[in-house]
Amino acid sequence: MTRAYNFAAGPSTLPQEVLEEAQRDLLDFSGTGMSVTEISHRNKAFEAVVNEGEALLRELLNIPEDYAVIFVQGGASTQFAAVPLNLMHNGKADYVVTGNFAKKAFQEGKIYGDAACVASSEDKTYTYIPDVKAIPFRDGTDYVHICSNNTIFGTRYVEFPETKAPLVADMSSEILSREIDVSKFGVIYAGAQKNLAPAGVTIVIAKRSLIQDPLAICPTMLKWKVQDENKSLYNTPPCFPIYIATLVLRRLKALGGVKAINEINEYKAGLLYDFIDNSSFYTNKVEKKYRSIMNVPFVTPNADLDAKFVKEAGANGLVSLKGHRLVGGMRASIYNAMPVEGVKALIEFMKKFEKENA
Ligand SMILES: *Cc1c(COP(=O)(O)O)cnc(C)c1O
Repeated sequence: MTRAYNFAAGPSTLPQEVLEEAQRDLLDFSGTGMSVTEISHRNKAFEAVVNEGEALLRELLNIPEDYAVIFVQGGASTQFAAVPLNLMHNGKADYVVTGNFAKKAFQEGKIYGDAACVASSEDKTYTYIPDVKAIPFRDGTDYVHICSNNTIFGTRYVEFPETKAPLVADMSSEILSREIDVSKFGVIYAGAQKNLAPAGVTIVIAKRSLIQDPLAICPTMLKWKVQDENKSLYNTPPCFPIYIATLVLRRLKALGGVKAINEINEYKAGLLYDFIDNSSFYTNKVEKKYRSIMNVPFVTPNADLDAKFVKEAGANGLVSLKGHRLVGGMRASIYNAMPVEGVKALIEFMKKFEKENA
């Protein structure tokens, strides 16, 4: 068997050991004689999985006790609506628009009230993060929404804004990749298919005192309070993604937790950025300070060479390197599960490609 090095932005690569474990246990999960995809979500063996997943998230992210930690469905995009529907009591919220998903969240917010874009980096095609100390946040808002890592454009916040209103962050493409102080946020949410699990489950971490009074029009399924009170089992949850998430979290803990993986992630990203910066053939257009350690976009001198690069890399087992259609070029997503060897193999290929095409 040859596994490809998969640089997809999402759904994305998962740790091989986790896939092997899931494969071993597929026909008989936890002595039930059934697979985890066949048993009731009320089965004790499955409840144990949900509880362990939640406990591991709490431990690995050092989540304070007065925060709910829930597994929900509908992807991060559904949370773009859930955020105003749970929090917009005064009908007013600020958004910082640093990329495509941040913009989508902003547009969704506008459906429910006075959502304002208080800062944006669209003027330079989202290649930087606005200075968080200079953002003119408004008074009397219900929350401030940011996207902490911008998957398509390859930027991330290096410091987070100090806000009077609760800070809400979409961390889909970087959850568990670096240490964060959860207590600085009102709500954190993340679609799991980037850094944690297969598509189908989204994590919401929310300060309980903020979520007790969702708007009257909020659908029951989007009420974080209801999901919290039902321990993520209000209805049938996405059992298999939650199970895989739990295996991934176990492995992350064994590895030394978020601090340890953060060091590895910095190392991997450093190798790739250093190589790009020392090359006159490849370019990364992001302001250095704000470079993401998860998503690394880059280009060759022209679009024809970009296309050739993607094709030849694929033939060499380095797959899904095509950049997002909004940016073009290439994008290497190097999430937690991408091994150092994968990044080194990519750099070796980049060297070879440059020699042949420069
Ligand atoms: C992928 C992504 C989304 C969209 O997630 P879905 O689960 O497809 O809805 C939203 N925000 C960020 C930052 C993402 O990377």
